[in-house]
Amino acid sequence: MNVQIEALFTSALGLQAPWAVRDVRLDTAKHRLDFDVECKQPLLACPACGASSQKVHDRLSRSWRHLDFFQYEAWLHAEVPRVGCTACGKTTQIGVPWSREGSGFTLLFEALALTLCRDLPVRQAAKNLRVRDKQLWRRIEHYVTEARKKQDMAKVQIVGIDETSLRRGQHYVTVVHDLDAKRLLFCTEGRDHQTIQAFAKDLQAHGGEPTAIAHACMDMSAAYLRGATTYLPNALVSYDRFHVVKLAGEAMDAVRTEEWKTEQARVEAALGHLTPKQRRSVLWGMRRNPSGWSKTQTEAMHWLQRANLKTARAWRLRMALREVFANARSHNQAAQAGAELKAWLSWARRSRLDPFKRLAATLKSHFDSVVRGMLDHRSNAFVEAMNGLMQQAKRAARGFRTAANFIAIAYLRLGKLTHLPVSPFVPATAPSAGVARHRM
Ligand SMILES: [Zn+2]
Repeated sequence: MNVQIEALFTSALGLQAPWAVRDVRLDTAKHRLDFDVECKQPLLACPACGASSQKVHDRLSRSWRHLDFFQYEAWLHAEVPRVGCTACGKTTQIGVPWSREGSGFTLLFEALALTLCRDLPVRQAAKNLRVRDKQLWRRIEHYVTEARKKQDMAKVQIVGIDETSLRRGQHYVTVVHDLDAKRLLFCTEGRDHQTIQAFAKDLQAHGGEPTAIAHACMDMSAAYLRGATTYLPNALVSYDRFHVVKLAGEAMDAVRTEEWKTEQARVEAALGHLTPKQRRSVLWGMRRNPSGWSKTQTEAMHWLQRANLKTARAWRLRMALREVFANARSHNQAAQAGAELKAWLSWARRSRLDPFKRLAATLKSHFDSVVRGMLDHRSNAFVEAMNGLMQQAKRAARGFRTAANFIAIAYLRLGKLTHLPVSPFVPATAPSAGVARHRM
């Protein structure tokens, strides 16, 4: 190769003195481009104590995977000097500017990997980059940990606390969101009250103040309530719409399951003439908003609404609760929301449907917090959106879904971390002053 090509790649790789490309080897059959990089300087400062002009003791051969050049997989190779220091007596390897100590990837390659993992499942990103999944998981964890150390939480006042399970119904993780900045603040294993204590500590470690938390939006778990009361002493609790409406859906399902199991004759009399497909449509229709019903579901639900079944009453109760919440969203008046919720509670209590009587008792015992949640429209919408993003993060960890991996990928995607490596996908700027030109 001629000198100009080495000079071109020296600047394309962003290398600065004393580092320069000595040789470039292209293997078209193997789709590889290998760069030998060298440090020409005979005397270097000691990395351990800083003493200048120390002799190179020896050189250790190392390699790093770099961003592909065109269709070629690119590798850097260098004999990295170890400085034998006469001042401190130590022999220390110097750092290289293109890579973190101990990493077999260049910084740019790591930045590319992190950028891909924000949008792709990690397994897919690893496949595209032709590396092992494990190599990416290690780096995600490293960079997220470093970035979180510098994360500022000083202004956090409104939080959303939620649980999510790594596998269906097991292995729970507690997540805390900043509902103003719309970012994931904290994520930890478990769902007991101590998870809130852990959050309060983490908040303090990042410049935040647990007593400054004015509002906590959460589901109706007793553990979270205990945690918030103890560790976020000034927080007003509100129960978010998403969870309350979900409880009504569960109550409805409980009524239906019980009735279809124990009162088959009545169910047959009311719905026996429906085809199996129409029966399935009833099940789906019950869980959906009428505005989302298909034609088949609309017809099937017509039969349910006419039926004198507990299931039909349970469905009406659930729809009515949805409406109470929807009304509150539009009028946003505490007094009116409270009055409408009270009316619903009294209907539910008289319904002779045990799951709804129990739900009414629960809502009544947390009445103020439920009403607050009805009005807190902004955070409600965000809680639902975050829930969807959490599911995506879980899919991104498919095959490697340990709590540590899930927590790391959730921070990477939802944490709005400001100290992560910059994506190498920055748009090219037009040629201008300062751009090195090389004639080939
Ligand atoms: Zn030294």
